[in-house]
Amino acid sequence: VMESTISITVVGASGDLAKKKIFPALFALYYEGFLPKHFTVFGYARSKMTDEELRTMVSKTLTCRIDQRENCGDKMEQFLKRCFYHSGQYNSEENFAELDKKLREKEVGKVPNRLFYLSIPPNIFVDVVRCASYSASSSTGWTRVIVEKPFGRDSESSAELTRCLKLYLNEDQIFRIDHYLGKELVENLSVLRFSNLVFEPLWSRNYIRNVQFIFSEDFGTEGRGGYFDSYGIIRDIMQNHLLQILALFAMETPVSLDAEDIRNEKVKVLRSMRPLQLDDVITGQYKGHMKGGKAYPAYTDDPTVPNDSLTATFAAAALFIDNARWDGVPFLMKAGKALHKRGAEIRVQFRHVPGNLYKRTFGTDLDKATNELVIRVQPDETIYLKINNKIPGLGMRLDRSNLDLHYAARYPREIPDAYERLLLDAIEGERRLFIRSDELDAAWALFSPLLKELEEKKIAPELYPYGSRGPVGAHYLAAKYNVRWGDLSSDGQE
Ligand code: NAP
Repeated sequence: VMESTISITVVGASGDLAKKKIFPALFALYYEGFLPKHFTVFGYARSKMTDEELRTMVSKTLTCRIDQRENCGDKMEQFLKRCFYHSGQYNSEENFAELDKKLREKEVGKVPNRLFYLSIPPNIFVDVVRCASYSASSSTGWTRVIVEKPFGRDSESSAELTRCLKLYLNEDQIFRIDHYLGKELVENLSVLRFSNLVFEPLWSRNYIRNVQFIFSEDFGTEGRGGYFDSYGIIRDIMQNHLLQILALFAMETPVSLDAEDIRNEKVKVLRSMRPLQLDDVITGQYKGHMKGGKAYPAYTDDPTVPNDSLTATFAAAALFIDNARWDGVPFLMKAGKALHKRGAEIRVQFRHVPGNLYKRTFGTDLDKATNELVIRVQPDETIYLKINNKIPGLGMRLDRSNLDLHYAARYPREIPDAYERLLLDAIEGERRLFIRSDELDAAWALFSPLLKELEEKKIAPELYPYGSRGPVGAHYLAAKYNVRWGDLSSDGQE
């Protein structure tokens, strides 16, 4: 049997994502022994660079985990020796044919498998896929392509992108990445729910009052608002990352852990949801602010953003899944830039205890006594369950405390970056964590009408100060459904 080899081509190798995430993730996989025995990494972009120059550029961003310092330098050197560069245009079949020739030289005598990572702006996705598929796809092995968001900006443009990609690729060659799905605590969601008897029976409208998906950044666009301004926070975070987590959270038990079984269940959830209504959404934009003698800029102060931009840097939304399990349960999303804290969390608020014997101890505010499961996806990964507990002593006073799984304490090993997991899965052909076309269509169908309405009606976002908790509109929206937002992990380390 002939051995196989894999050629990984990073298209857009001169860019930010390639440097920050892709090369470091490839090196980490190499270091841990997860890459196949035979592999080569190629960088491809228009910038002129020699192999040596690529290696120097890449070497600056490689790191070893704290527990892997041993041999780190040697390993880096070995890895860099397997990295090469080819300069070419993104729409030139000829340039891709030159790349093909170089790839063949490395692949001699082995079954060649090829993985292309498109780390480039979306307007050139289709050109690259056309050229790669005509001039540089594998003759006898497999060819796969990883694409990064954005996958269009509404239902029509997304469908058009998919249609064009499928002129050159089959569905099973397209790996649409949503890096939130590669995060350790998002992967753990299903383990938590389906392998613990104490959770799955509670996972429905019978016991859960509401579920919150919160994403918060404590910085603004800081001069990189160009791309963001034409998308906004709803497309950038909600329609993809938060919705993907929601679908995983809410899906029925899949038949198996196979990719198609899981993706079938996720798409069912998305198709059971009501498209977003304008009065279930509020948008915000950060404004300039003085704090402690320091001036924080407004979104529109960013030189790459038009002065009259109405783009939302914050949004909150209430979503509903019209199926038997979740009928009537609000799923709330909140995402924003330039807020007071940074983090991403899932918060599950449970119902009141009926006829609570201890209600006098809580006064009238029974909300304070409900259980809450918090999954902090980042930073400082933690899962905790808020419970009521008697304060030790002769009196009867109750206290809220946390049953707490703090990853840093329980699992001192550093958690791999999401890109490591996802690259490894793409290499191994594991599609579970990648977005299938029908999932993508269903996701856009929920958000497209709303996004169109926001734009057509030129709805002005509510301004909120840089570094604040965001617009008060988010609280009114939640209050409409009798929900109080959890406070991003102020309670994490109680
Ligand atoms: P980038 O740095 O702007 O672009 C990557 C490379 O593409 C550049 O080095 C440049 O290479 C080429 N390029 C840039 N603009 C071009 C244009 N107008 N026409 C043709 N080529 C152009 O992008 P990135 O930040 O690395 O991100 C890559 C992709 O991942 C994008 O689709 C982005 O939306 C997505 N993404 C990025 C991040 C992130 O953290 N940066 C996160 C999520 C998703 P040459 O000039 O050398 O050809």
